[in-house]
Amino acid sequence: MKTIGILGSTGSIGTQSLDVARQHGYRVSFLTAGKNVDLLEDQIREFRPEKAALLDAEKAKELKLRVQDTPTQIFGGEEGICECAALNSADTVINAIVGLAGLRPTLAVLNAGKTLALANKESLVAGGELVLSAANVNHAAILPVDSEHSAIFQCLQGKPTNAALKKIILTASGGPFFGKTIEELSCVTVEQALNHPNWSMGAKITIDSASMFNKGLELIEAVRLFQVTPSQVDIVVHRESIVHSLVMYDDNSVIAQLGLPDMRIPIQYALTYPERFASPVGELDLTQYGKLTFFAPDESTFRCIGICRQAVEKGGLYPAAVNSANEEANAMFRAGLIRFLDIPALIEEAAFTIAPVDSFTLDDIFSVDSRMREAVRQLAKQ
Ligand code: NAD
Ligand code: MG
Repeated sequence: MKTIGILGSTGSIGTQSLDVARQHGYRVSFLTAGKNVDLLEDQIREFRPEKAALLDAEKAKELKLRVQDTPTQIFGGEEGICECAALNSADTVINAIVGLAGLRPTLAVLNAGKTLALANKESLVAGGELVLSAANVNHAAILPVDSEHSAIFQCLQGKPTNAALKKIILTASGGPFFGKTIEELSCVTVEQALNHPNWSMGAKITIDSASMFNKGLELIEAVRLFQVTPSQVDIVVHRESIVHSLVMYDDNSVIAQLGLPDMRIPIQYALTYPERFASPVGELDLTQYGKLTFFAPDESTFRCIGICRQAVEKGGLYPAAVNSANEEANAMFRAGLIRFLDIPALIEEAAFTIAPVDSFTLDDIFSVDSRMREAVRQLAKQ
């Protein structure tokens, strides 16, 4: 029987991960969240984890009182979350925290030698070599949960050792603003940006999908996970979100993974790999679609893709810088403080001012993070 731990258990990926655990009767060794006491209490009562943690220390105290009739030990703060992340009893840990806040927990899982089922792409994008070397040194696997990367990973199963991966073709839904011009984007509202056509997700990634910064993050994620160059990753807009991504081999043969747009398929594959089990997700009936469409992305209107490509080509701390600048700009847009098109403008202006470096530490990433957040706030005032 598999034992899993979930970081960010109260969010969109976290709750869907618990659906998968429920379906297969997995044991849950720990659960962590930001501040949602009510939902975490319900989850503790249902799954009886050994440990649980909340980032908010006050809320953690409240939770401790509420669940004192259960055997679950409660912790608070980021240290509490990292202590759970490194818990010995979990075979696989799902990191479903949103944002750079997932980086220390990602490292805690890998340093404990645990398999990491990674939804929190920001930690891999910003952490780069630090995350990959923690995985290597500790012989810990990173299995993708992001639907595109799960698709690529699935397409690579059975790849002969002598076969070269020529290209990755990353599909993008295009989000709610597909086909819109710069003029039309200048006045879009938060509500419109939160209305994603195919996926129901947390607020941050939904805005990232509207700006296509999410596809930029995924380009960097693909470079890191599959050890390809940025120029080997093509992005194709596919409105139906049925083809989740493709790989092209040296002989120009292309292999794709298809399925209904439901995150429980990639979450489950990260937990059952290399095996497959029945899933609650429905069967794909291609005749219901009739046709599937593919378009080149409009990178001059959706500039975040190019910004991320430039960041990964420059290397060093640039991916961390664009990620942190985006986290701040994304939050400011959601709070009604800036307009939609200010997002790429602010990221570009803030992130490329940092100095190039050959190597960096965890402290450097968090120092870039505070500098970028401050720079975006200051630039937004001008
Ligand atoms: P969400 O906002 O729904 O959930 C985030 C979870 O993290 C919650 O449990 C929250 O309590 C916790 N959290 C928030 N801030 C925290 C902090 N500072 N420290 C510790 N915990 C914190 O987000 P989501 O949509 O589930 O996305 C989670 C991650 O998965 C993101 O990196 C996202 O890019 C990635 N992802 C999500 C989807 C999706 O369908 N939702 C698909 C692919 C990848
Ligand atoms: Mg994705």
